[in-house]
Amino acid sequence: MDEIVKQLLHLSARTETLIAIYDGDDRLRYANNAFRSAYFIEPDETPLWPDLMRRNFELGRGTAIRANFEDWLRSTQSRRGKIGYRAFETDLIDGRWFWMTETIEKNGWMLCIASDITTLRAKGRSVRQDRDQAIKASQTDELTGVANRRFVMARIEDMLVAAQHGNEGCLAVFDIDNFKYINDRLGHHAGDLVLRDFAHRIHQNVRRTDCFGRVGGEEFILVMPETGSEESIAIVERMLSVIRFSRPLPESPDFSYTCSAGIAVCQPEDNVSDLYRRADQALYSAKMSGRDRVRAA
Ligand code: GH3
Ligand code: MG
Ligand code: MG
Repeated sequence: MDEIVKQLLHLSARTETLIAIYDGDDRLRYANNAFRSAYFIEPDETPLWPDLMRRNFELGRGTAIRANFEDWLRSTQSRRGKIGYRAFETDLIDGRWFWMTETIEKNGWMLCIASDITTLRAKGRSVRQDRDQAIKASQTDELTGVANRRFVMARIEDMLVAAQHGNEGCLAVFDIDNFKYINDRLGHHAGDLVLRDFAHRIHQNVRRTDCFGRVGGEEFILVMPETGSEESIAIVERMLSVIRFSRPLPESPDFSYTCSAGIAVCQPEDNVSDLYRRADQALYSAKMSGRDRVRAA
């Protein structure tokens, strides 16, 4: 076995195929020479994926990003590492194109392999790029840039399939408190700013293995696979306190807002609406007991 691992690492160092492994926190834990060279990573460096992307973007190298960087990062992170396997075309600023695959373990570790396809199938690339852009748009909420209802609902399905095999998992439903009042008193534009602030702040605190998205008006959900109820309550409580300290309106610097949340634990026999209903009931009880708090079903 040791001999095989040794040979694998030796060959991996020599191949032109890009190979990398990230852990569940999205920190690069292994990358071969081809990968390090394409993304400008020093031999012993183990950067977090978003930091690596930001650094390369600022230095005008690495992945070609045609949008505002923060929007690109939020939308990509909202979908990155949430599905067992993904394959897509991606290009570098130096003009090279890669066919990249991502394979994800339940514990969040990810194997990333990319092959240079610059000279292959160049015809139709812009059509395929448009198609990928359309897929991305169909999974992203337009106002906030996080995952949309369609994408997060599918992740609840995935979590429930795992629950049938005895895995833990929790669903949290968030609803901004007195949002109607915010809209009525400060206007729809301020309401939209609050929605964006909420989505961006929560997004920054979402683990890569979890999935956060907007499901409607001022309602959001967080899907937490492999997570028990105590841990998920702690995660959501931390998020509510982040929101409590936010001051999202530059023109009303004293304005603050809060949010309530309900949590439900997956049962093996649940379907999506059973689980959602229990989380919603817990949310209702959080609202009834004074808002700005989390309740578990
Ligand atoms: P509660 O604490 O009980 O949740 O009170 P609430 O006022 O937040 O509850 P309610 O569900 O009655 O109000 C939600 C409001 O959200 C109603 C609607 O006008 C507003 N809303 C829904 N979608 C949007 C949006 O995209 N932008 C803005 N600005 N407002 C929206
Ligand atoms: Mg509501
Ligand atoms: Mg509300």
